[in-house]
Amino acid sequence: MFNIILFGPPGSGKGTQSENLIAKYGLIHLSTGDLLRKEMKEGTPLGLEAKGLIEKGQLVPDEVVIGMISAALDANPGAKGFLFDGFPRTVAQAEALDRLLELKKTSIGVVLALQVNEDELVKRLVNRAKTSGRLDDADVEVQKKRQDVYKKETLPVAAYYSQFDKVVNLNGEGNIEDIFASLCTEIDKRKKN
Ligand code: AMP
Repeated sequence: MFNIILFGPPGSGKGTQSENLIAKYGLIHLSTGDLLRKEMKEGTPLGLEAKGLIEKGQLVPDEVVIGMISAALDANPGAKGFLFDGFPRTVAQAEALDRLLELKKTSIGVVLALQVNEDELVKRLVNRAKTSGRLDDADVEVQKKRQDVYKKETLPVAAYYSQFDKVVNLNGEGNIEDIFASLCTEIDKRKKN
């Protein structure tokens, strides 16, 4: 089993690259953002609670996303590996994920961190809003809030995994194919068979 965290700020291309990576490596894609949007669409109590926070650019509580990830791990017992996208977003989530994986006798193989400068991120989110229909992409104030939350709450997650020498920083600017190739090179270096 080989588990990957695709790490980076909102707009860094995690979703796009995740699609390519799961197709190539046969991994299960676990995006907490996608899971939360599904709950919102279905109008579940969890979805309604999350909606208010997401539309303000704030994080939903750790227990909520940890619970969703725990359920998804249990639901995929035979998986070749998991690709975590948009999770963990706090150090508490990272510690919880490590514990959950340990219970399944596995761990994180690598954290691939996409680096994109802030001007480019804003441009990408404005563009994405035209097709995604995501209210949290369309509003510039909400975007700013999401980048602030990323710096304050989520960047420490990279420092957490650096202690265990698991983080690889990669250039997330340029064309999608080149970025995909550099992600694959790093995975192939670490993954057995
Ligand atoms: P994303 O699609 O990953 O950009 O996530 C969209 C929004 O969902 C975020 O701005 C947060 O409000 C919420 N969200 C997604 N993943 C998490 C997480 N791991 N922890 C807390 N909130 C999350």
